[in-house]
Amino acid sequence: MVQYAGNCRFLWNKALAINLFKLQNKQKICYYQELDFFSKLWKKSEEYGFLTLSPAQTIQQTLKQLERAFKDAFDKNQPLKRMPTFKKKGEVNSFNFPQGFKIDKNGKRIFLPKIGWVNVRKSQAILGKAKNVTVSQKGKHWFVSIQVEQEVAPPKHSSNAMIGGDLGVKRLITLSDGSFVEPIDTSKQTIRIKRLQKQLARKVKFSSNWKKLKAKITTFHTKVANIRHDKLHKISTQLSKSHAIIVLEDLKIRNMTKNSKGSSEQHGKMVKQKSGLNRVILNQGWGMFKEMLKYKQDWLGGQVIFVDPKHTSQTCPACGHQSKDNRLTQSKFECAKCGYQDNADHVGALNILARGHRVLACGEIDISQLVEAGTCLMSDHKAPMVLN
Ligand SMILES: [Zn+2]
Repeated sequence: MVQYAGNCRFLWNKALAINLFKLQNKQKICYYQELDFFSKLWKKSEEYGFLTLSPAQTIQQTLKQLERAFKDAFDKNQPLKRMPTFKKKGEVNSFNFPQGFKIDKNGKRIFLPKIGWVNVRKSQAILGKAKNVTVSQKGKHWFVSIQVEQEVAPPKHSSNAMIGGDLGVKRLITLSDGSFVEPIDTSKQTIRIKRLQKQLARKVKFSSNWKKLKAKITTFHTKVANIRHDKLHKISTQLSKSHAIIVLEDLKIRNMTKNSKGSSEQHGKMVKQKSGLNRVILNQGWGMFKEMLKYKQDWLGGQVIFVDPKHTSQTCPACGHQSKDNRLTQSKFECAKCGYQDNADHVGALNILARGHRVLACGEIDISQLVEAGTCLMSDHKAPMVLN
């Protein structure tokens, strides 16, 4: 399977290199038909004959995926899509079967072309019709993911509560109901990784000890990623199940304002997020969290609203007075006009929720329903709230 994944990676990189070269020389890139023709020639050659060892479908799928990636990158309707990049050895190894696979009745085994029956441990029930199968390697383990197609009626969310959330560094997320989630702690693993990396630097590059250590580091990195992933899943599931509407800051806007280094609020946030690397990791986590919430809300019939984050941490939720003087310290909010006091992140969450209500009021959703349900609107927060 390592060989199959390796061949797919080789093919992806080779086809990508050809197309990037063509683009540089202002020529038209090769799409699937042409690339498939090339791959057949390569299979016959002595140099690239090893490609014949792979199931033909996995080769075709790789080229189709590359074609898709180029089409997406050129698609003006998908501005976030970037150009495809080269795949490195040791990153995610994967290959895909669009057909020819079989799934055992009890789901304990799966048949893969050229590989045969393999035992699998099922993480969830397979509902609907299986469309394709992806086999991938993460760290030491191999994973099989099955894409299914299923017809479902549009769901209606069981709750009609609405909540605002402020994503941060000292607290992962602070909610408008006053509760918050501590940041994900992976310091133990990070210390181990740093120590191992120091050891690695002293080893002879590409020696067997070096390789062993390198593999160990990869395992720890996977562990850290898994911890973060699991935690984000738990929080997003919990939030999504109990709230029909979740309001968050639009991080794109927030990052843009941060780059321009404007007011002291933004400056404060810059200081808070010390190093650039930290911020990148955080942003990735937030991006993932946002995506999880979006699809979970879609699934349950709920909604996620993204609002402009400007001044959310400087505006008084009680009287509406907006000033940077309301924030004399990083963690505490005290209104210079009415004296309202609160945790600064909680103030952020309250203002985010209020903005969500305003977005809804201009939209089509019937907001009166939500008020009847007793969820918190701006007016509910006239009195200062005590944090637990
Ligand atoms: Zn005030």
